[in-house]
Amino acid sequence: MLSLIELSGRELGMIKLMADFFVEKPELTAKIESYTTAHYALVTTYSENFGIPEADAWKTLEELQRRIDEAEYVQVEAPRPINKWLQMSKEEINMLRTIIDYFSANPKMSPAGSFTSKRSESIIEAYVWFFGSTNGNGEVARENFQNLMEKLQSAMSIKLETLVPIVATPNPYEAVLRLLDIAAQKLKLDPGLHEMLKRPVRAIIVNFPVTMDDGGLQVFTGYRVQYNDILGPTKGGIRYHPDLTLDEVVALSAWMTFKTAVTGLPLGGGKGGIRCNPKEMSQGELERLTRGYARAMARYIGPNSDVPAPDVYTDSQTMAWIMDEYSDIVGYNAFGVVTGKPVNVGGSLGRTEATSRGVMYTVIEAAKHLGLKLKGAEVAVQGFGNVGFHAAKLLSEIGCKIIAVSDSKGAIYNAKGLDPIKVLEYKNETGSVIGYKDSTNMTNEELLELKCDILVPSALENQITVTNAGKIKAKIVAEGANGPTTPEADEILYRNGVFVIPDILANSGGVIVSYFEQVQNQMNYYWTEEEVRGKLENTIVTAFNSVLDVALTYKVNLRVAAYMNAIKRLSDAMFTRQKGAFIAIQR
Ligand code: NAD
Repeated sequence: MLSLIELSGRELGMIKLMADFFVEKPELTAKIESYTTAHYALVTTYSENFGIPEADAWKTLEELQRRIDEAEYVQVEAPRPINKWLQMSKEEINMLRTIIDYFSANPKMSPAGSFTSKRSESIIEAYVWFFGSTNGNGEVARENFQNLMEKLQSAMSIKLETLVPIVATPNPYEAVLRLLDIAAQKLKLDPGLHEMLKRPVRAIIVNFPVTMDDGGLQVFTGYRVQYNDILGPTKGGIRYHPDLTLDEVVALSAWMTFKTAVTGLPLGGGKGGIRCNPKEMSQGELERLTRGYARAMARYIGPNSDVPAPDVYTDSQTMAWIMDEYSDIVGYNAFGVVTGKPVNVGGSLGRTEATSRGVMYTVIEAAKHLGLKLKGAEVAVQGFGNVGFHAAKLLSEIGCKIIAVSDSKGAIYNAKGLDPIKVLEYKNETGSVIGYKDSTNMTNEELLELKCDILVPSALENQITVTNAGKIKAKIVAEGANGPTTPEADEILYRNGVFVIPDILANSGGVIVSYFEQVQNQMNYYWTEEEVRGKLENTIVTAFNSVLDVALTYKVNLRVAAYMNAIKRLSDAMFTRQKGAFIAIQR
């Protein structure tokens, strides 16, 4: 069956840039000619023109190459007055492949690597080498080239049809909506309530100026999405990233809504962020950026309405700035406006390791249910950052044997067990866990497929996919990271009897202690670390057992059960709050 893919705006932009290059459009020529290799010239120019990091530009080119290679048919949307889809001929598609190969530093293109006096002639020559020509002097190839260039330069959008099944990286929002549909069906959820849960109630976009170190003003775009607040004030992190989009923020805010609901917290879900590149900004610029965002958002956030927290590239210092700016605006110390603050300005004890401590409590409960002895149980941890390190440390403290850990550079393995604290010291000295004494190196892929009792993915999303799910040998997968398992992989793991503790439950310890921080701020009375731990254990163990009950009753995996519990809480609250309206509808 044919699958249809529309190229993204970025991919279209890159193709147009290639076309401009080959027709020698003057504004690009000078810039491109200052580089020695075609692929470097393209990636750099593309990155500058579209404001996209070079690493991402390179990925776009690779993705484009893969897609065009797989394409059976390519259609181009022509602008007005034609305004219709034009089919590309087989020859034109091959020409497009040659052009993309040319820019992908593909070794087979090396004979065409040096630009002949006329760039279009060099690509036509390369095309003839690889695909031949019906006449010896390349007239047909020249015609194909001209037709293709015309179509590409004026294209509004491009669609590809491929025979290969599309293995797209799942969009987290789509994954959440899919689970929402499954859970809603099991619960026979009212269609109106179901519809309500599919959409964010509020999305705020702000544009605000920041004075940069050079004295100039730069305008930044910030987002905050309050997905659902039926259970209480919305809660969720703020991320700083150059590629941040509203779409991503909506997805993450939906995730937070189900996470706070499944753990039984009186909170809704939200998320926010700023489109910026924090790596290129000074501390002073970051502070002014954060304060600018806080001022622009001040009327929409607050201890009783929406409480942000740190996320990607934001930390406790960022939260301290927001709290300080907001407090200035409202005229009193509003510690509770954000969580994840430093302890000396209203932060909670026990927050740093809270996510991993939550992972540990859920593993203990899962082991009880499965009859698995934790003393000596073998554990592999992917990712050795905040979540991965503390998870390894806490699990080893209760008697588990940590046989493998990893970071972005690779994994280390020792069947006799690793000491997480010593591995951390080594990582702090050398920058990676790789090369740690008495261990053998392996890849992150091998770590995931190790024979072990407990696997704790604590790095990135989409690590367990259809490709490797069948090879996972762990008895328990405790998702420290958000979204490490794709929905298709989830089904394979369930069929194979792997007990997956889903992210919204396993890593909810962080948001639970964030909630405790809010409570302590409101009381202006602070708990000891033991009190925080005790309350965390109580909350997460109760949530776990309630989800397990649903999973056993409905014969569904723990992820579906977690969503069912979350949706039931949300829909019950909506029903109660709007009872009059529902009764009127039912009459
Ligand atoms: P972190 O940046 O401290 O650590 C991430 C670790 O993953 C690093 O050791 C990094 O080297 C490693 N890594 C990166 N790419 C990798 C790869 N390809 N293979 C293996 N390891 C790789 O981040 P963190 O705070 O520990 O968060 C990790 C995950 O947990 C994320 O998915 C995050 O959303 C989730 N999470 C974190 C918290 C929290 O409180 N920190 C709460 C809930 C969920």
